[in-house]
Amino acid sequence: MGASAPFWKTKRLAEMTDAEWESLCDGCGRCCLHKLRDDDTDEIHYTNVACRLLDIEGGGCSDYARRQRKVPDCVRLTPDALAGIDWLPPSCGYRRVAEGRGLAWWHPLVSGRTESVHEAGISVRGRAISERQAGPLEHYVVDWPGRLPRAVGRGGAAAANGRDSAPAPLCRDSAPAPLGRDSAPAAPVIRRRPAGDLTDRDAGGR
Ligand code: SF4
Repeated sequence: MGASAPFWKTKRLAEMTDAEWESLCDGCGRCCLHKLRDDDTDEIHYTNVACRLLDIEGGGCSDYARRQRKVPDCVRLTPDALAGIDWLPPSCGYRRVAEGRGLAWWHPLVSGRTESVHEAGISVRGRAISERQAGPLEHYVVDWPGRLPRAVGRGGAAAANGRDSAPAPLCRDSAPAPLGRDSAPAAPVIRRRPAGDLTDRDAGGR
């Protein structure tokens, strides 16, 4: 690895500075979507219902400084905590680096632009609904937060121009997605935000 290689290729997570750690977040907002865990299988089911503090167009927390006072189950993501977390989406910068996959082309540290995460169809923009407006979470189960858009998965510059398909519809008026069992609804998985101020980064504050 050359001396000029970026920090995420040369440092272990625990060795990163606070600023480096925080910059691994691409600002997609996917981790701020509510999730359901199947009590029987432990499987995670993503929904498109966002934490009430999430800016569903920008992808950042609207009140980062006071988020844990307002949302007590918001989790601070740290290198130690990362090892015990199974719900981060596969596109997440933290998860990718932890799994040795590096950062993808849409990541602002690679592209040099915060908009690339939106253009790639990675962010929640245009397809999330705030918990303030949503109904029961079971009515909003979607699979896109747990996968990559097909074009993004293939990589390539053309993928930067848009999503592989139309944005997933909000599910308020559609049939509830099954959770694979007919017993009581699964317990919600806690919401979380990474360490660092996404709002600053979204504003180009790196
Ligand atoms: S922590 Fe991961 S999933 Fe959450 S906004 Fe940052 S990159 Fe996206």
